Amino acid sequence: MTSMDLDGWTRVKDRLRAEVGDDVYASWFARMELDGSEGDTVKLSVPTRFLKSWIQSHYAERVLACWQAEQPNFSRIELTVRSAVIRTLPPRMKPVETPAPHREMREVKSNGGDLRNSVGPISAVHEALGGSPLDPRLTFETFVVGRSNTLAHAAAKQVAQAHRGDMVMFNPLYVHAGVGLGKTHLLQSLAWAGNAAAERKVLYLTAEKFMYGFVAALRAQTALAFKEALRTIDVLVIDDLQFLQGRSTQAEFCHTLNALIDAGRQVVIAADRPPSDLESLDERVRSRLAGGLVVEMGSLGEELRLEILKCRAAAARQHHPGFDVPLPVLEFIAKSVTHNGRDLEGALNRLLAHSKLTGQPVTLEMAEREVRDLIRPQEPKRVKIEDIQRVVARQYNVSRADLLSSRRTANVVRPRQVAMYLAKTLTLRSLPEIGRRFGGRDHTTVLHAVRKIENLVSTDSALAEEIELLKRQLQE
Ligand code: ADP
Ligand code: MG
Repeated sequence: MTSMDLDGWTRVKDRLRAEVGDDVYASWFARMELDGSEGDTVKLSVPTRFLKSWIQSHYAERVLACWQAEQPNFSRIELTVRSAVIRTLPPRMKPVETPAPHREMREVKSNGGDLRNSVGPISAVHEALGGSPLDPRLTFETFVVGRSNTLAHAAAKQVAQAHRGDMVMFNPLYVHAGVGLGKTHLLQSLAWAGNAAAERKVLYLTAEKFMYGFVAALRAQTALAFKEALRTIDVLVIDDLQFLQGRSTQAEFCHTLNALIDAGRQVVIAADRPPSDLESLDERVRSRLAGGLVVEMGSLGEELRLEILKCRAAAARQHHPGFDVPLPVLEFIAKSVTHNGRDLEGALNRLLAHSKLTGQPVTLEMAEREVRDLIRPQEPKRVKIEDIQRVVARQYNVSRADLLSSRRTANVVRPRQVAMYLAKTLTLRSLPEIGRRFGGRDHTTVLHAVRKIENLVSTDSALAEEIELLKRQLQE
């Protein structure tokens, strides 16, 4: 490589930074290196395939233009992926001192049977970094695989079984599903299994822990040590990412994510929605999250529910020898409690409590009585904004275009407000997103509509009834 190349490279980087801004530069180009040149071709490399394809599809021309401004004889850029070997890691940090008792594995009370398998102690780093406690019941052994979670399970297993230094197959692994469909169970299984494999450090954190850990570290002026420690782990698992908030936390999350992924470390994320719907997250973070493997876990089918119940009941029997749940009862629960895994657990716990308190055997009749309120005729559907607009438009005899238009006549203003209100109450969409879907309105307009309808509903019983009806139509 010539010294001219190197000087040129420095200026190209400055140019690029000036053009795209510090943030974009730090996210995508900070780890780009010059490997040399050959004829009219500049050879550059980045640490991950993802970075390569992102830069190629979004910035290829710009990078070339920057080079040509320096050295007009270049007409091609060749971008390659450097080997994924861990080589950019900072020196290993000594684990932060923690008082002895905290070093021991946290005891998690288990009342569903002792299913603990042979798992090593959670490392000091896990503790020092504020890793969230792991529930010994949530392991791969107790995770039942069915159609809705096969892929997510296989991916998690793969990650858990990988060895340090292995080529990372998909990074990040991003799992999303609604409440109670097994995200936490899967992630904790991965953490247990990964930690049990020698030499590997798996850190399981809820997004909240990540925020508090970071904020606390900042307050204690040890942000640097915290970052360094974070970077000594092999697998970072973050649960409930939808709760990550705040600009500085996000920036830190983004840096951590980049640093870990580029160093060949594995990142695993769970959230209640796909990356594109994490509206409060920066676009760059979202695209990075979407750049790995994104897997959705569907709702638990009846068969899967039955298997989970059998597994649970067997576990409970180990602890409570008299607790015998006949198969027809399990089948009844599996058929009727359709909502999610938590309700299944709740149903069994009730049967257990009842049979302990009364000393009576579990029967179908008792089960029907005990779990009545957990039974929903049908699983609530995920309501779409388009459906809301369609149903409301039909109800009030206006067109969907009217709802999205800027017309302000009374006959469209009210239906529009009702539709926005329903969008807020029946979907997980944020106010700005709802505003966008209603003809590009501001979030304050949506908020105003929601408040307005809320107020009206409390005084106007006819409207309240109308809205109940609309809700029912949408959820059927
Ligand atoms: P999420 O984090 O997605 O809200 P959880 O992982 O907390 O859901 O699951 C809720 C309950 O359902 C837990 O008790 C969990 O053990 C159980 N559960 C969900 N899916 C499965 C599964 N595939 N196998 C066994 N138990 C499951
Ligand atoms: Mg969870």
